[in-house]
Amino acid sequence: ASGGLYRGRFAPSPTGDLHAGSIMAALGSWLFARRAGGEWLVRIEDLDPPREEAGAARRQLRMLAAMGLVPDGPVEYQSTRSAIYQQALDQLVERGQAFACHCSRSDLSAVGGIHRECVARRRRQNPAIRLRVPAGSRVTFVDRILGECTQDVSGTVGDFVLRRADGWWAYQLAVVVDDGAQRVTDVVRGADLLDSTPRQILLQRALGLPTPGYAHLPLILGLDGTKLSKSGAAPAVDPEDPVAALHAAWLALGQPLGAVPRGGTPQAFLEAASAAFDPALVPSNPQPAAVHNRGVT
Ligand code: GLU
Repeated sequence: ASGGLYRGRFAPSPTGDLHAGSIMAALGSWLFARRAGGEWLVRIEDLDPPREEAGAARRQLRMLAAMGLVPDGPVEYQSTRSAIYQQALDQLVERGQAFACHCSRSDLSAVGGIHRECVARRRRQNPAIRLRVPAGSRVTFVDRILGECTQDVSGTVGDFVLRRADGWWAYQLAVVVDDGAQRVTDVVRGADLLDSTPRQILLQRALGLPTPGYAHLPLILGLDGTKLSKSGAAPAVDPEDPVAALHAAWLALGQPLGAVPRGGTPQAFLEAASAAFDPALVPSNPQPAAVHNRGVT
């Protein structure tokens, strides 16, 4: 986006082992970066201890290494970056772009779950901090896979949380601050996060950060037709067979099987894959209802 070097990233939350969907995001983000002659970073998004699993980050990094996906820089851990998130939050609060909100879940559900103004019936000891999203805040961006996407953030999301009432940082704030601090130019990730992108773009604008390019990869559905999650039941990925995991991800990215070696090392697979990768073949997927997508034009 800055006209300089492409820099991509893979940013797993350590809530369990990498599954087929997250491995597709890892390989997909790596392939886009390699194809652009750029760099690829890994960031562990360990911001939500109640949802995390002991040892998961270590196992995720071990699986990436086994697949030959080696980051071009040190792995960052969000749990060490509180001071940086606080700085960004202070800046927004000082400028009146973020505010303390005492609304409870039931206050909000009484107004349809969308925060437009505080309707709290009593003050909470620890308020959440929300970004103010003025009426009429529509965000449009052009996704490299899905084409033009638009969301009315004020109408469908409302003022959203930057720091939770329980004190933890919200994913939206951390991801925007970190992508900015790490000078990530391109975000390639699963389409389950498409719905968050307009919020992140609003936040980038509020913080004066550049907006990266976006490519949202198709969702891989579980055997029961629901979205995979690291914490839920997902088809097992055999950590002893990294090449099989890479093959499955390659196919899910819509790429031709004949372009990559059947057996061999992960390195041989990756070499062939980075030479053959064609972003135009990546399938587009149904989107969450709140984001309207007009397709590639
Ligand atoms: N940490 C997020 C997840 O694992 C991904 C964040 C991102 O790619 O923006 O779902």
